[in-house]
Amino acid sequence: MRAVRVAGPGDVSVLDIPSPEPAHGEVLLEVAATAVCSTDRKFAARGHDSPRTPGHEVTGRLLDGTVVGVHPEIACRRCQACLAGWHNRCPYREALGLDRDGGFAELVAVPSSQVVPLGDLDPVIATMLEPLACAVHAVEVAGIDTARPAVVVGAGAMGILCAWVLQAAGSRVVVCQRSPQRRRLARDLGVNAAIGPDEDPADHLGEPPAAIVVTAPGAEPLAWGLERVAVGGVVHAFASLPGVVPVDVNVVHYRHLTLVGSTGSRLQDYERACDLAASGAIKLERLPHRVVGLDGAPAAVLDRPPSGVLKTIVAVS
Ligand SMILES: [Zn+2]
Ligand SMILES: [Zn+2]
Repeated sequence: MRAVRVAGPGDVSVLDIPSPEPAHGEVLLEVAATAVCSTDRKFAARGHDSPRTPGHEVTGRLLDGTVVGVHPEIACRRCQACLAGWHNRCPYREALGLDRDGGFAELVAVPSSQVVPLGDLDPVIATMLEPLACAVHAVEVAGIDTARPAVVVGAGAMGILCAWVLQAAGSRVVVCQRSPQRRRLARDLGVNAAIGPDEDPADHLGEPPAAIVVTAPGAEPLAWGLERVAVGGVVHAFASLPGVVPVDVNVVHYRHLTLVGSTGSRLQDYERACDLAASGAIKLERLPHRVVGLDGAPAAVLDRPPSGVLKTIVAVS
């Protein structure tokens, strides 16, 4: 079969390799499409000690033609984290496309427990269910009171998806974003308001936001969130940050804040994401995206996407 292989730092190509052999309890999927995530970009830039196929935002078809999505965090289901329900934080988990071969290939083998039927959802668009599940997870982990307004910092794919999840739950959402073009894009995508970092979200919401989800990397966006959230509010550190980022704990202390984080998602978050998409509550097709073929995948994981494109999807079959 044809598959994208990362062999070393920046060394990414499409090769013919043997088809995967599903192990006991696994199924073989004909990959329909796999979306590119920043994790894939980091992986491609960094390389891997042995050739590996990236891609964890995968949809495909079972041998009987059923269209399915894949929840990519394959947990041990026995450890303390798993028994507490945190499959996505299992220290023994295998992440699809990192610890085992992922979806930028014609075929992928995955445990049958990770497969979710997608009904009538378009398999190309449904690749975005995986990042949507991460947004669902973040909002739930943060315990956000969605009867009150919220702010999302950053209008990239994760920022917009977090804003949509909050809005679908009833929250009014202001997006804070430095670039005017991205602010315009966020408004076009239906957020209640989009502001720059010099503005106060309370002016647009009538009160300070009860929660701020920080999807932009760096110390500044996190500090901004801690200063602008309501007293007693929640700040979610959603972005992975380059290096160590200092946080003024006195702001957390004196303003009675809760600072939380989460990464990835659980199977139930993925299923909730499916429900949100299937009901039309969240229209994933509106997220600005482009579709390329498998031959376009190496460039898609190595190069920056064209401006205005928030998601690149590799359509395989
Ligand atoms: Zn991802
Ligand atoms: Zn575990």
